[in-house]
Amino acid sequence: MNEIDLRSDTVTRPTKGMMQAMMTAEVGDDVYKEDPTINALEKKLADMFGMDEALFFPTGSMANQAAIKLHTQPGEQLICDKWAHVFNYEGGGVSFNSGVSCKLVDGDRGMITASQVEENINAPDFYHSPLTTLVCLENTTNKGGGACYELETIQEIRKVCDRHELGLHLDGARLFNAFAEKDYTPKDFGKVFDTISVCLSKGLGTPMGSVLIGKKSLMKNAIRVRKVLGGGMRQVGFMAAAGIYALDNHLEQLKKDNDRAAELSELLAQQPYVKSLEPTETNIIIFYLKDDVKELEFMQKLDEKNIRISNMGQGKLRIVTHHDYTEEMHQFFMETLQEIRF
Ligand SMILES: *Cc1c(COP(=O)(O)O)cnc(C)c1O
Repeated sequence: MNEIDLRSDTVTRPTKGMMQAMMTAEVGDDVYKEDPTINALEKKLADMFGMDEALFFPTGSMANQAAIKLHTQPGEQLICDKWAHVFNYEGGGVSFNSGVSCKLVDGDRGMITASQVEENINAPDFYHSPLTTLVCLENTTNKGGGACYELETIQEIRKVCDRHELGLHLDGARLFNAFAEKDYTPKDFGKVFDTISVCLSKGLGTPMGSVLIGKKSLMKNAIRVRKVLGGGMRQVGFMAAAGIYALDNHLEQLKKDNDRAAELSELLAQQPYVKSLEPTETNIIIFYLKDDVKELEFMQKLDEKNIRISNMGQGKLRIVTHHDYTEEMHQFFMETLQEIRF
């Protein structure tokens, strides 16, 4: 058996079918908007979410950063959870690219509520404070361990945004994992958000790419912002072909990824070396080892079986299931977890 790499869902390799789709893709110069496969991918996602337009980006960070630029002016402020990817893991891009600050909300596993949003809006006529103009949500949450919003919570946040004339952006890097688990649909999300970024290279298993989907009024400047950020690309239809293939063929597996994570979580909860676990809702498992169990020793025992997971420090460990994690690997990992003793 190959190495079992569960550090992240970004470690996947393109499947044979995906490679075939990529190798036979029709391409053109996307800077001229002449790549038919990119255009088809963008249209497919815009239609799927019932939104006006979509634009392909090389990374999720660039798609989020472009969205923030489209919604804001320098000096303004956005509201997000303290664990938000846009704040923690995009290199300070919010301030670097848009000259915007973040008002951090102390949410629950990366999720915030409508009343928390409302409490954190600066009074618009109090000119001493930055003007609040945008709310950024994340679904599923990365640092929050794959937690999913309820649609009602998002709809309530939308109402607050409408009352205060704020934009609403969704960082949906793992949004398809949430769709596999919850009873809401892409069109439900298209109705409540102004812009949504989705990632093709995590659960969907493509080599690269994220797509920003949104309302025409905002998206009309998206291609200019992407150019400024250095994200104008040429015959990138090869990558779009992978994305179209994944949307047609890989969405179903996400439920399996989520279910396997749930099984692992249940099993871990029964092990003597585990102190506690965050609730597992989708494909991310976050757990803590008992104080007398050393992380490095635990990782070492897994390493001996060719299994890799993430060590997040301070006793916190992370497992992420994904498209290349097979049933055979799953059974082997489950057995290994039960055999480990200290
Ligand atoms: C992975 C991820 C992104 C995008 O990351 P890139 O590596 O830039 O593609 C954005 N938001 C969240 C929540 C993520 O997990």
